[in-house]
Amino acid sequence: MKYDVIIIGSGPTALWTAFNLQKENLSIAILEKNTFSSGGLVNDCKLNLNPEICMDIDELKITIKEAEKYIREIDNKFLEHGADKTLYGTNEEEIKKWQIRAERCGAKLISSKQRHIGTDMSIKLIQSFKKELEKNKVKFFLNTEVKEIEKNKEFKLKTNKGDFYSKYLVVAPGRSGAYWLRNQAKKQRIDYKWGPIDVGVRIELPSEIYDPITDIVYDPKFIFLTKHHGDKVRTFCTNKHGKVRLEPKNGDFILVNGDALKNHKTMNTNFAILNTINLTEPYADTTEYGRDIAKEVNRLGGGKPIVQRMGDFLDGRRSKLKTFFSKEKNYHLVKPTIDIKKQVVPGDISMAYPGRIVNNLYDSLVILDKIVPGVLHSSNLIYAPEIKFYDTKYITDKYLETNLDNLFVGGDGAGKSRGITGAALNGILIAKGIKNKL
Ligand SMILES: Cc1cc2nc3c(=O)[nH]c(=O)nc-3n(C[C@H](O)[C@H](O)[C@H](O)COP(=O)(O)OP(=O)(O)OC[C@H]3O[C@@H](n4cnc5c(N)ncnc54)[C@H](O)[C@@H]3O)c2cc1C
Repeated sequence: MKYDVIIIGSGPTALWTAFNLQKENLSIAILEKNTFSSGGLVNDCKLNLNPEICMDIDELKITIKEAEKYIREIDNKFLEHGADKTLYGTNEEEIKKWQIRAERCGAKLISSKQRHIGTDMSIKLIQSFKKELEKNKVKFFLNTEVKEIEKNKEFKLKTNKGDFYSKYLVVAPGRSGAYWLRNQAKKQRIDYKWGPIDVGVRIELPSEIYDPITDIVYDPKFIFLTKHHGDKVRTFCTNKHGKVRLEPKNGDFILVNGDALKNHKTMNTNFAILNTINLTEPYADTTEYGRDIAKEVNRLGGGKPIVQRMGDFLDGRRSKLKTFFSKEKNYHLVKPTIDIKKQVVPGDISMAYPGRIVNNLYDSLVILDKIVPGVLHSSNLIYAPEIKFYDTKYITDKYLETNLDNLFVGGDGAGKSRGITGAALNGILIAKGIKNKL
């Protein structure tokens, strides 16, 4: 099967590439290995409308003004397709007070105007996106996994559904396909370098503790420069009244993550707190470093992620099933949103994570507890491994074209975004790049 443009993956990068090419009289196909389209869009779907979040404008070679313009376009598309119109993070006066408070405690608060669509509602939205593209003759091939990329005069893609050919190729396989992309890049001599990786934990606590801040900023990003090493730690992906979720990585290991539904609320809020790690010589491969850490945590968890009560973490003690709900220790006060007998294992995060990361997380949690009292309550929960793999950065021009002519990369899997709006913005740039070549 032959197309002018083939897009690997059906996440926001893919959709926005297709939205911006659908009127160009090109044959376009989207190949997605899963049974359902749209990759990470289906998860929680908070839209960050601030260019400081979800993307790196220097890496994308765009100005703040350009980024803001594209973000408006993306937001409008979501609204057109039925996204909830509620806009969070608009109370400037209250935000300022929280920013001052954070600064006094040794952190920085970045706020963002945000929308929350929720995992339940995002499914409807994705169907609507797909319908628009199909109406404009974009073909979706679901359950179609690209195994190999080859290039002669044109691209040849070997998939479980036969071979596909195209003149232009957009590779946007997300974080789940990042490792596969890296292997393909090695074979095709596509240039890349290693960037920083984020390793941390997910905290789960009663919503009432975090409500004072999440009522003002839906997904607050606190940034901490830790006292031990000057390393950067930040909070990320807050899910108010949400659930902790498992994120299996192609049978290699299992990470933790979180989401929230629009129409079904839990009593808890969860968020990630992540330490950004840069490696230099003699070993700079942050992907392998992160994979080893994830595997080590899973190994100590008997093949599962680890959960630890904050009290045990602070006392340097492992958590055990026997005492996990101990009234004596007040552990009965917070009920996990995940099945601790089946999905995770009570254990000791500091046995699995390098000391520097544990120290950085500890320092940052102490500061966060000053900003939002209650974060360090002994009954709160800490889950690991929470790792964000967007560390392999491909060397591209400003339209995300690689050194391999007509091959564009984008999204989290290419190290060009860290969230939905950033990934969608990548799609807009890629479409511009392809249009320039027509
Ligand atoms: C639980 C969870 C919650 C999240 N919550 C938010 C949030 O609230 N807000 C936010 O901004 N971001 C959130 N994110 C991150 C967000 O989902 C990603 O940043 C975004 O989806 C990245 O878009 P992408 O286009 O790069 O890739 P993805 O959306 O990951 O899409 C890539 C697609 O490519 C497919 N694929 C991979 N390899 C192949 C192959 N070889 N052949 C065919 N198909 C392939 C994958 O199956 C996937 O569907 C969340 C992520 C998770 C896991």
